[in-house]
Amino acid sequence: MSARERALAAIRSPNARAILRELLEKGPRSRSAIAQATRLTETAVSRAAQRLIVEGVLAEGKQLLERSGPGRPSVELEFGSSFYVAGIGIRGYTQWVELRRLGGEPIVSEQFACEDLTDPIAVLRRCCNELDALLRSRRVPRHRVLNVGVLIVGVVDPAMGTVLRAENLGWRRVEVKQILEELTDFPLTIETMLNGMNLQQRVQASVPLANSLLVSVALGIGASVIVDGRITRGCGFAAGQLGHLRSRSSTMRCVCGRVGCLDTVASGRAILQANGLLEAGARFGMRELAGRFRKLSSAAQSRPDLAGALAAAGHELGNAIGGAIALLDPREIVFTGFVIDDDHYFDAVCDELSWYRTGTSAQRVDFVRRQQGGEGAPSMSAALSLAAEVAGKAESLD
Ligand SMILES: [Zn+2]
Repeated sequence: MSARERALAAIRSPNARAILRELLEKGPRSRSAIAQATRLTETAVSRAAQRLIVEGVLAEGKQLLERSGPGRPSVELEFGSSFYVAGIGIRGYTQWVELRRLGGEPIVSEQFACEDLTDPIAVLRRCCNELDALLRSRRVPRHRVLNVGVLIVGVVDPAMGTVLRAENLGWRRVEVKQILEELTDFPLTIETMLNGMNLQQRVQASVPLANSLLVSVALGIGASVIVDGRITRGCGFAAGQLGHLRSRSSTMRCVCGRVGCLDTVASGRAILQANGLLEAGARFGMRELAGRFRKLSSAAQSRPDLAGALAAAGHELGNAIGGAIALLDPREIVFTGFVIDDDHYFDAVCDELSWYRTGTSAQRVDFVRRQQGGEGAPSMSAALSLAAEVAGKAESLD
């Protein structure tokens, strides 16, 4: 067995996962603090931690002043420096590769844009080549990458590693895992873009929420749903495809073929097209499109017609996703994507949704805006890879 295989085998024990999840979510911790938080015995934590240290996944860090009892002074456990995680991100207008330390600390990321997205094998080959170049530039040997997280827009079956459909890419039933396994020898985790963001947010939150909804409004509209601590995928892995909710006011055809999807009235694509800023069929970088949207957004400050159009689109979204509050009772809805940065739009969304916070059946849901500066979050796939490996699979053991 190689060192990487031994490290991965050590990670797969339930106790090791509990420890790693704790460290990913809260940073360096002593064995006794981990035991308290995970409700494992100190002996169980020490035993699992010892194996992770031997395999290079964990290391002993700072010596703590307080003693945990008689005997040895308490020492913090942290992620070791032997291994890394890497990421590949594929969305409609940009692709990226990145490298991080095991605990999630970013090292380097590189964005690029494939000429032709319609050939999945060519796109995946390019991503592998870019990742190899990135590793060479940092002199990181391939066998020290513990896992590669692959995030793709669209409907994904993560167990099979299959993209069932991705309208933005023009992909239908692409066996991503199988293709990547022929191109490279990295251990892989494949996930939808938004589930990746939601998982990462869960890992980074000071108090991870068991019920949260992540709604992204960029060129298209999509969501990721965490209910009772688990990602909800649905019977065909299409849970969260909010862009294809029905909007009664739309008479336009969506990329999915139906007439009247929410995407045709409330998405960034719809708003740009309605204002003559995006010609059908034209291709631009995400940065360019987000820039055009920002200009529109600032012009709306002095143009009531634009402000009204943005608010109308926001009301459409708010009205459409309100049902999710009644249905799922989330503690928080996190909004992200460049369209959300617009105040007229976001205020209208909140205006629609705050109805659910009134009356005797008022729900305790917060609306949080995560501003990103327009380019999406091209640095989450690596953090996802270990988080999913640890948190995702640990929850299926519960
Ligand atoms: Zn549609």
